[in-house]
Amino acid sequence: MSKRDPYEVLGVARNASADEIKKAYRKLAIKFHPDKNPGDKAAEEKFKEAASAYEILSDADKKAKFDRFGHNAPGGFGGGGGGFHGGGMNMDDIFSQFGDIFGGHFGGGGFGQQRGGGRTVKGSNLRVRLKLTLEEIANGAEKKIKVTKLVRGKGSEYGNCSTCGGSGQVRRVQSTFLGQMQTVTTCPTCGGIGQTVSKRAPGSDEHGLVREEVVVPIKMPAGVEEGMQLNISGMGNEAPAGGVPGDLLVVIEEEPHPELKRDGTTLHYETFINLADAALGSSIEVPLVSGKAKVKIEPGMQSGTTMRLRGKGLPSVNHHGTGDLLVHVMVWTPTDLSKEEKAVLEKFRNSPGFQPKPTAKDKGFFERVKEMFGN
Ligand SMILES: [Zn+2]
Repeated sequence: MSKRDPYEVLGVARNASADEIKKAYRKLAIKFHPDKNPGDKAAEEKFKEAASAYEILSDADKKAKFDRFGHNAPGGFGGGGGGFHGGGMNMDDIFSQFGDIFGGHFGGGGFGQQRGGGRTVKGSNLRVRLKLTLEEIANGAEKKIKVTKLVRGKGSEYGNCSTCGGSGQVRRVQSTFLGQMQTVTTCPTCGGIGQTVSKRAPGSDEHGLVREEVVVPIKMPAGVEEGMQLNISGMGNEAPAGGVPGDLLVVIEEEPHPELKRDGTTLHYETFINLADAALGSSIEVPLVSGKAKVKIEPGMQSGTTMRLRGKGLPSVNHHGTGDLLVHVMVWTPTDLSKEEKAVLEKFRNSPGFQPKPTAKDKGFFERVKEMFGN
């Protein structure tokens, strides 16, 4: 990795004052802090790069050396106290450097980590997608999901970390330009857990964990929706030593129903009837989530009529009742009539019963459209 000029990294001029250098670094440290950018490798690299640059520019000797020789200074910048190791600093060094950046005695670990005793480490979360049919959503479903997760290998053993003696922290005295400072940092050996692997199970990683396929039974509540996430606590990746497992996050994917459209707890069904059924009355079959319903068409039904089947929608996931199924009926205007059919209609073209006679209760077109879209 080629090293950038520390002045360039911090965005300061060559003649910048110590205070300006400190301010510039503080800004970058806050911006790229790993707590603010979890899992973002690029941000972590920037964070480390800024810390390395500051390590040089905040130290009068190193700064003078760099100004004269650049990165190729005789003896390099490594090994000089603060733990600046060629490729960059480790996180603990960076956090301990914070003492003089943010003022006060800033304990190791940086932000948001517990002090005292090994910290509890949580395994990472697993995320899976789960496809559900409308019927499963309506009734709730019990599913078995296969996941591959990290578990503690059989035979992996953990013991107290020899570096920190199990406390998860190390103390060190460091000289900064503000004077001698004692800092408490997360143990670099165990990462703060207080324990390390003493015996690794065959095939396990450096934490004594192995990948294993497991089947997790889960109960999906009724009424879930596309994109919803169910957190099953403790079913994610296991953590080494005394850590607790992460969570299993199940993201819902809805399989589209061939005939019913979903809008929250409301279901919509659209169908066409022919002219004769609309005029004379009839009945139609409406698909339900489970089964079918027969619905009556009153004689003289207008195109665009919506019928409401109460309680035939979907249950609310929050137990706020069950929605309705709206049946939207359109009258199909024939498009390919035979000679004979045309002759029949022609006969009635001007007869009184065929003339439009809308009443006040026949809603306007725009009102019906509004109803169709749910408000
Ligand atoms: Zn340790």
